[in-house]
Amino acid sequence: MHFLSLGADDDIGASSHFLQLEDAGLVLDAGADPSRDGPASVPDYDQIRRAFGRNGDAGGVDHALITHAHHDHFGTLPLLVEAFPHAKIHMTPATHRLLEFLLPASARLQKRRQEEGSTPHAPLFSEDDLQLQSSFYLDHNLRTPFDVSGSGGEDGPEGTVEAEFFDAGHILGSAGVLLRFSENGDERRLFYSSDTNTAPQTIIPGGNYPEAPVDVLVMETTGGADPEAEQTHRALEEERFCAALQRTMARGGAALVPVFVMGRAQEVLALIDRFKRRGDLGADVPVYTAGSMRAIADLYDKTRETTPRLNPGFRVFGVDQKNLPYGRDKLRRTLEGPAIHVVSSGMMFGQTLSNRLARDLVGDPDGGIFRVGYAVEDSPARRLTEAAQNGQTVTLHEEAGAQEIRAEVERFRLSGHSDRQQLLDLAERLAPEKVVLVHGDDEAKDWMAAHLHERLPSAEVLRPAQGEIVEA
Ligand SMILES: [Zn+2]
Ligand SMILES: [Zn+2]
Repeated sequence: MHFLSLGADDDIGASSHFLQLEDAGLVLDAGADPSRDGPASVPDYDQIRRAFGRNGDAGGVDHALITHAHHDHFGTLPLLVEAFPHAKIHMTPATHRLLEFLLPASARLQKRRQEEGSTPHAPLFSEDDLQLQSSFYLDHNLRTPFDVSGSGGEDGPEGTVEAEFFDAGHILGSAGVLLRFSENGDERRLFYSSDTNTAPQTIIPGGNYPEAPVDVLVMETTGGADPEAEQTHRALEEERFCAALQRTMARGGAALVPVFVMGRAQEVLALIDRFKRRGDLGADVPVYTAGSMRAIADLYDKTRETTPRLNPGFRVFGVDQKNLPYGRDKLRRTLEGPAIHVVSSGMMFGQTLSNRLARDLVGDPDGGIFRVGYAVEDSPARRLTEAAQNGQTVTLHEEAGAQEIRAEVERFRLSGHSDRQQLLDLAERLAPEKVVLVHGDDEAKDWMAAHLHERLPSAEVLRPAQGEIVEA
C-alpha cells in the first residue's frame, strides 16, 4: 500500500491523506489549513493524479472518507469532489448534518472576507457549488462496515475493500476509520485514528477502537509536544477552570473563553452548566454566545439520542445563553461583567469576535482570558499565553498594537484530543507493525517517534513529509 500525505506537514496543517491500495484509491479527510489562506490552504489534490493517475480514466480517487466536522478535516471537500467527481464521499450521519450547515457557512465567510478586503483571495467555492454535492454524501453509522472497493482499473478482477467507522471521542459525529483490504493475497487492516480522545469529556464519551492487532496505524500527534497535558487530570483542570471563573466573577469582571465553535464551545457550555447547577457559579451570571454556535448547539441537541453521549438528557440549549449584541459599544458594555463570553475563534485569529473582545479585555485587571483548546504557534491565542507567562506585552491585532496584559490569563487542558501518553497507550494496545505519524508539528512527531520506539520496539515508525509517498 502507498501512503501520500497531501497537506502541509510543518504544523497541524490540512488533514488529507491518499491511500493507494491494490483495489482502491482512497482519500482520508479533505481539510483546509487553518493557518493559511486561499489556495495555500488547500491540499495538493493534483498530486494524486500525477503520482497515481491510471491510463485512460479520470484516475485516482474512488472514495473519500471524512472523519469529522472540523475545518482542518473537511474544509476543502468541495474542491476534492470537483477534482474527482466520481469519488464517493462517506461520513457519519451526524457529520453529514454538521457539514450541511458548516460548508455553506464557510462559503459565505470566504465571500464576505473577500468583499471586505480582509483577504486578496477569491472564495475557494460558493454556496451554489455546494447545492448538489451534499445530497450525494453517503451516511454510515458507527461499527457498520461498508464497501469502498475501487473500480478495479485495468488489472482484472476487483478485490474487496471494506471500511468501518469507530467512535473517535473527539466531537459530535467524529470517527476513526478501520480499513480491511487484501494485499499480495494477505488480509490487512489499517486504522486511521484521525483526531481522537480515548478519555471522556463533558458531553462526549471516550473513543472506541478496533480489536488488536492492526497492521498499520495512522495516528494524529497534535498533543505530542505538550508535556504539561499528561501531568494534569481532566477533573483537576475542570476544577481549576471553575475556580478561575469564580475569581473573575468575584472581581466583577468578564471572563472570555475563546473556543472553536465546533466541539469545544459545547463542552465548555456543558461545564459552565455543571458549575451553575452545583452553585459554584451564580445562576444569574450571563453567558454570552454568538454566531453559528447556536446552530451547532441545536444539532448537538437533536442528535443526543442517536450519537454517543455521557448523558443523553443534557441539552446544550438547556444552558441559558444570551446573544452577543452587535456594535462596538454594546459589545464593550457586556465586558463590564460579571459575565462569561464563550466565543470563537479558539486561536483568536484577527477577524474574530474572541480577538476583538480580547483586545478590550486584556488591559482590564478584573477580566480573565481563559484558553481551553489547542492553538498553533504564533496564533494570537498562543502569543497571549506565552506573553502572559513571560510578563511581556502582547500584540493581538495590528490595529491595537502592543498591549499590556492586566487581565488574568490562564490555559486549561480541556482539549478534545488525547494527550501524548494516551496516544502511546492506544498505539501499544493496537500493536501495529507500522505507525504513520500525521497531524502534528515536527517537535510533536519527534517525541512520538522516539517514545514509540521504546513502547513498540518492533514497529516501524514512518513520518511522511507533504508530498512524500511511503510504502506502508
Ligand atoms: Zn478535530
Ligand atoms: Zn484535526
